[in-house]
Amino acid sequence: MKYKVLIGLEMHCEISETNTKVFSGAANTYTSHPNTNIRPVDMAFPGTLPVVNKEAVKKSLMASMILGCSQPEYVYFERKNYYYPDLPKGFQITQETKPAPIGIYGKLKFEVNGEEKEVRINNLHLEEDAASSDHYNRSSKINYNRAGVPLLELVTEPDLRSADEAVAFLETMRSIYQYAGISEADSKKGQIRCDVNVSIMDADKDENDMSNWGTKVEIKNVNSFGGVRDAINYEIERQTELKEQGRYDEVEQETRRWDEDSMSTIRMRSKVDAIDYKYFVEPNIPKIKLSKEWLEEIRKEIPELAGERKEKYINEYGISDYDATILVKEKNVADFYEEAIKEGTDPKSASNWITTNLLGSLNKLELTIEDITLTPSMLAELIKLVETKEISSKQAKEVFADTLTSGKTPKEIVKEKGMTQMSDAGEITKIANEVLDENAELVEKYKEGRTNVVDFMVGQIMKKTRGTANPGMARSTILEEIEKR
Ligand code: ADP
Ligand code: MG
Repeated sequence: MKYKVLIGLEMHCEISETNTKVFSGAANTYTSHPNTNIRPVDMAFPGTLPVVNKEAVKKSLMASMILGCSQPEYVYFERKNYYYPDLPKGFQITQETKPAPIGIYGKLKFEVNGEEKEVRINNLHLEEDAASSDHYNRSSKINYNRAGVPLLELVTEPDLRSADEAVAFLETMRSIYQYAGISEADSKKGQIRCDVNVSIMDADKDENDMSNWGTKVEIKNVNSFGGVRDAINYEIERQTELKEQGRYDEVEQETRRWDEDSMSTIRMRSKVDAIDYKYFVEPNIPKIKLSKEWLEEIRKEIPELAGERKEKYINEYGISDYDATILVKEKNVADFYEEAIKEGTDPKSASNWITTNLLGSLNKLELTIEDITLTPSMLAELIKLVETKEISSKQAKEVFADTLTSGKTPKEIVKEKGMTQMSDAGEITKIANEVLDENAELVEKYKEGRTNVVDFMVGQIMKKTRGTANPGMARSTILEEIEKR
């Protein structure tokens, strides 16, 4: 490789787990009705004043601690001044790095393709989200529901070296936000948006010397992890090509956007005409002193995170590293798994069902675990039906597929389909003898040593019982009965 890639991310994640917005009493929930989750202060009505949401500050401080950042002595908010229709106040309340944001200088370890990496965190700050605009053919409409939703912005140092690393980092962050109860961190709901900074430099030069760094290009507002991956790879290729052609001066310090349709980055503006936001301390919010006691309390409340759960699955449940990694990747999947175990299911069976059947089906159907009607206790019930041999594992797969969206329990489905596996020894013996009677010539062959005829006879039992006989019992019964002849 002739070039090294430097990537720094600015990850915005809405804090979804507070009751209200960050500076107003409007509900912090999603609704399909535009302009219903709003209070006068979100609309910047004259005379209204912001009130800081303690819960949002607390969740931000928790994130700051998890990332190993230092927390400030006082929390300040600042105004970032610019005009946009979705920003009715004419400024966004945010935190610049001066005097001190909610978190500064941390680091995060994460895994990429089985290898451990570390990225330095420059800072983490709490701000308000802007409203959103919907564009139609001949008009645009503004929805203020999003105005004032708490937003955490995380800024990394340019320590990431590939698209894979950037995505692995984002996945780790998403998991932290979910496990710590800070956010659902669902990019499909628009809760995560990233600015991606990319540059290339000569591979043989020292990356610790900033003067060797290449010109960085910023790609704004990428709203999916797939988009981040594609945008980075596109930019690496574009910049490498220009460098190879001796046209590196055409790589400008500029802001681009990722265009899904053309799968390319498109120039928006040069950094030279960047806006001066004229930051100053927000005069309507007094500085907040953070007491040692409160910080200690928050630190104690940090819940079990993905890494700890993974260790538990491997050491206590005997799950493989590979499967444990899959189980903890999304918190709602890990929760589902733990609920199933609470119902008394064997951890290994539950893990097998979830990692292969459940996640495979969700992927195929493009559903999430929240969209389905299968509950952890239903999965436990299904596994039990197989263990007690009431249904065969083949039947179980069919039942499982039905539980996903039908809203019916496995027992109901088994009953409806008349599926119960026949394990009644008397009944199977009766049918085995019917088969032997009907196939006298095969019994002869068996006696001559052609033992493979048993396979056919087991098949006949399965046919007569419409697949409900326990195959193991069918085989042993045939063998027993044939010997008696
Ligand atoms: P700006 O002043 O343009 O906002 P910052 O220094 O604040 O730039 O950095 C913004 C983001 O860009 C950070 O995530 C940082 O890691 C990243 N970054 C800075 N320099 C580079 C570079 N040469 N290549 C890639 N990313 C970079
Ligand atoms: Mg910056």
